Amino acid sequence: MIGRMFNRLRVLRRGRSTWKHLWFVCQCSCPKKTIREVRSDHLRRGITQSCGCLHREIASAAGNHYKPGKRFGKLTIIAEIGRVRRRGPIYLCQCICGKRTTVQGRHLRSGESRSCGCGFRKRNLKHGKAPASHKIPVYSAYCRQKSWCRNPNDHHWKYYGGRSIRFGFQDFPTFYRHVGDKPNNHCWLMRKDRDGNFEPGNLHWVQRRSRAKKKSPARIGRASKITQGSTDTASPAKFQTLPQDQPSYPCQI
Ligand SMILES: [Zn+2]
Ligand SMILES: [Zn+2]
Repeated sequence: MIGRMFNRLRVLRRGRSTWKHLWFVCQCSCPKKTIREVRSDHLRRGITQSCGCLHREIASAAGNHYKPGKRFGKLTIIAEIGRVRRRGPIYLCQCICGKRTTVQGRHLRSGESRSCGCGFRKRNLKHGKAPASHKIPVYSAYCRQKSWCRNPNDHHWKYYGGRSIRFGFQDFPTFYRHVGDKPNNHCWLMRKDRDGNFEPGNLHWVQRRSRAKKKSPARIGRASKITQGSTDTASPAKFQTLPQDQPSYPCQI
């Protein structure tokens, strides 16, 4: 073993040993002549081939290094400040928002990092009602109902857009102004006229219990006793006169 070459490493002498592994002191053949202790199985299997110089050379040959001033999205490289082992260099970058941030070169190259994070936060704040990557219930309802009416590929299209029911709101702010926040967790956003369009004046929040009542006419008698004094505005008599051959609607919210 002593004197043998493993790629760039020449074995000089035996190093420490544990109950499991054996180490050899090796010298690299690069100009630095670095001396390192390497595990014997890593030498044999080719896991360690040099003092680290080989990896650095391969990385730089692959164009891993960027000069200061190069731009990636909103980031401009100021300097290379170090490297992650086996992952390439780290750069200090200046974002156009004024912040400085450290980014790995491979993330710049792949496009994973395009800003200090300000771009991400901005992109998610569509309507300014919820923090980044969160949705408020009204916005979910807006997206869902719009899709029912305007997207022929939606599962519920046949009940809405397919029956020429329109979605009459231009954008979310308009929708939000007419509908408001979800009052509590036990509410549905429903149309007052169930065959009408989704438009200003025809949407209201309804307590979920009265929705269950509508779905199963057999329970009307019992449910109406329970829900006396609830916020439900429609009278129970109205539910009984609903035609029985209506299509069953998917749940709203
Ligand atoms: Zn070396
Ligand atoms: Zn920024």
